[in-house]
Amino acid sequence: MARQLDYCTFCPKMCRHACPVSTATGRETLIPQAKMDRLNQIRRGNAPWTASSVEPIWACTGCRQCTAYCNHNNEPGLVLLAGRAEANARGVGHPNLAGYPDRFRGREQRLVAQLRDSVAAEKLAVRGTIGYWPGCDAVGKGLDDVSAALDLFERIGAAVDVVDGGLACAGYPLLAAGYVDMFRWHAGKVARVLKEFRTVIINCSACTYALRALYPAEGVLISTEILALAEFLSRMADAIPTARQKKVVYYHDPCYLARYSGVLEEPRRVLARVAEVREFGWSHSDTECCGGGGLLPKTMPEVADTMARKRLHEVVKGGGGTVVTSCATCAFLLKRNASSGVSVRDLPSAVIEALDRGAD
Ligand code: SF4
Ligand code: SF4
Repeated sequence: MARQLDYCTFCPKMCRHACPVSTATGRETLIPQAKMDRLNQIRRGNAPWTASSVEPIWACTGCRQCTAYCNHNNEPGLVLLAGRAEANARGVGHPNLAGYPDRFRGREQRLVAQLRDSVAAEKLAVRGTIGYWPGCDAVGKGLDDVSAALDLFERIGAAVDVVDGGLACAGYPLLAAGYVDMFRWHAGKVARVLKEFRTVIINCSACTYALRALYPAEGVLISTEILALAEFLSRMADAIPTARQKKVVYYHDPCYLARYSGVLEEPRRVLARVAEVREFGWSHSDTECCGGGGLLPKTMPEVADTMARKRLHEVVKGGGGTVVTSCATCAFLLKRNASSGVSVRDLPSAVIEALDRGAD
């Protein structure tokens, strides 16, 4: 971490153009180099640990676009998360995240109850072969998409149960809020639930990455196969009927799926069954963040919304249309910021709607 902070401090801002937060705000103090330099100066004792001094470290979605342009493969998105943990430990966490662990626990309980209310009892299971664990934003903000996914599983003949282990989230928000110990503790609980399934499908791009990479990094090993929903559907793509009339849709790559997990062609393969896929100017591993990561919608909600509108601007400029993504968080933020003439769908809903319009 110290090496990365030093490299960024003395860097001639090579990734300046890449940061969607600084671009959306027009603030030079929020370019990756400046955020890393600020954390470095605090670490070295040249600046104080105060709430205002650490403010820039919260202005990051962890989108990893800066890393894509870094010759040193530096990871500001991950280093700044570590800075958040240190800020919390020193009592200068973000005011919007005060009491976050308790809020997280309360939300978990609410979402588990919501999921149980919305899914037929016979579909809920504590163990099985393939389990669908939608993710917290899917349950909290996209229950229609959860229903669409279950509908789609049935239509393609996939025997999938809904994971009913009393938990709703794999814990990425805890890490983004700077609560590493609680993340590790929560990860242990999640691992005990998920190990009862051979494969678990999840529709949150950040938690897919957390389960695959951040759990092992924290010493929580999980032998269950973890698949993003797009990956699972891609494996089953041949079973998805083809739509008779294929509407043109834009596909938005979620940062955590594209840049951290390398899931690029799978959602396109699924969409191609029912739609004609059009690409954004910034797409695939060069995707532009919609503002949903890193808890930015909580720490800088207006900036997160600006980023989502900026992402959709290309569609607006082109006369409107439909944007499809494959992450519940991205779907929520993009929907919230879609102007008239632009509709946003998560992958399972997009497929079901296309099939309902007519399939071969
Ligand atoms: S991430 Fe790389 S390119 Fe960006 S400021 Fe740091 S060293 Fe420079
Ligand atoms: S990870 Fe994304 S949001 Fe964070 S500093 Fe890098 S480019 Fe900016």
